Amino acid sequence: MAQQGQEQIADLYQDAWRNIHQRLRHEYGDATYNSWLKNVELDRVQNGHVVMTLPTKFLRDWVINNYANRIRQIWMMEAEEIQSIDIQVREANAAPAAPKIAATAPPTPQNNVQQMPDSDSEMQQSLISQLDPRFTFENFVVGKSNELAHAAARRVAEAKDNIPFNPLYLYGGVGLGKTHLMHAIGHAIAANCPEKKVLYLSAEKFMYRFIRALRYKDTMNFKDQFRSVDVLMIDDVQFISGKESTQEEFFHTFNALVDQNHQIIISGDRSPTDLEGMEERMRSRLGWGLVADIHPTDYELRLGILQSKVEQAEIDIDHRILEFLAHRITSNVRELEGALNRVLAYSDLVGRAVTLESTQEVLRDLLRANDRRTTIEEIQKKVAEHFNIRMSDMHSARRARAVARPRQVAMYLAKQLTNRSLPEIGRKFGGRDHTTVMHAVKQIDKLRGEDISLSEDIELLRRMLET
Ligand code: ADP
Ligand code: MG
Repeated sequence: MAQQGQEQIADLYQDAWRNIHQRLRHEYGDATYNSWLKNVELDRVQNGHVVMTLPTKFLRDWVINNYANRIRQIWMMEAEEIQSIDIQVREANAAPAAPKIAATAPPTPQNNVQQMPDSDSEMQQSLISQLDPRFTFENFVVGKSNELAHAAARRVAEAKDNIPFNPLYLYGGVGLGKTHLMHAIGHAIAANCPEKKVLYLSAEKFMYRFIRALRYKDTMNFKDQFRSVDVLMIDDVQFISGKESTQEEFFHTFNALVDQNHQIIISGDRSPTDLEGMEERMRSRLGWGLVADIHPTDYELRLGILQSKVEQAEIDIDHRILEFLAHRITSNVRELEGALNRVLAYSDLVGRAVTLESTQEVLRDLLRANDRRTTIEEIQKKVAEHFNIRMSDMHSARRARAVARPRQVAMYLAKQLTNRSLPEIGRKFGGRDHTTVMHAVKQIDKLRGEDISLSEDIELLRRMLET
């Protein structure tokens, strides 16, 4: 019944593959998914190695350069035995055959990747296979917002015997380079001190392995594995917030390694003190060494990153397009890279050079989402300053004309410059009713036609708030 067994495996991966597609679409959004990821097909799975295909070399290169890391992570979450992936160019005319799974597929050259690390050398092997080859220090562009984190990461990577700080805790919002820096540390240590045992994994994966060890009554082995490493890196530690037994185990691992003076590097999406759902003793432990915050990028850094990306990929693109993207896609580096890729993919598909118009067209949704949104608080603050009243008067019940009029102006501007509803605006003004806001909007509209100086005040405020 070998035949049937094989089909079951195929079905298993088919399900995983459907989930992976769903997840990619969800994470990257329809536009990116449709232009890049939709056409990735599963070719075969063999000994923990997945081969997928795309129709052109260009698409293949971009997907490898920009999404392969994530695709691999998702694969590993879907199927624990998956260790590595590859994306190849699909042969023209080849009928989209059903994926060839497991034993029947011919061996591929990438097939030397290990299963779960059971021995030291396997652990080292497995480290390398888990690091994204693009996430190196050379490829990391340094700016004001990340220079501390970068310098600290370098210091840890270059330290020979004395540990500079323990742990190194890197934190910042999504897509700002935390994982990139951790992989860079891994690469640097593997290159400079190959005898060191380095283990990199996400907190999610840590938990997964821990649970598996519990299930297979193999916790001794689990503990040994983690406590025998020289450098332990745990990415996205916030994941184990609220997961008590995993935290407990992590706490013991952490202490054992610190006691032996072995380096620990942790990343999180917020500072140790802000990790809700994390035990107090764990939070304080995490803040023991150096805590380095990665801030949102500034324009120069964004432009630098784009330049470095196009240089690496040897792509010829009008510099104004890069400037435009650096100006407008301010959320994070991952989205910035995604935007560049979409623009290039589009131009590749239609066979025309990238223009400012096509860029705006292709990125319409992304640009809108990145538009700087004025907040009601900012409006209240500027208006209060302008009319020389206290910020608290925006919320107060005082009805004197000298405060009531500026408050109405602020409500009016909130309606004009934000997409908040009337009730939402009312709530921000000391819990006023939406009819009060509506009345203010009407009132100011009317007064603007009669009172030139008020009209000029409002224009000035609007301009200040919009830039
Ligand atoms: P995080 O882990 O903080 O969510 P990542 O490390 O995954 O973010 O970074 C997201 C993407 O942005 C990656 O492709 C990474 O290479 C890129 N990136 C982030 N910061 C930089 C930088 N300073 N220079 C070059 N690439 C960067
Ligand atoms: Mg990350």
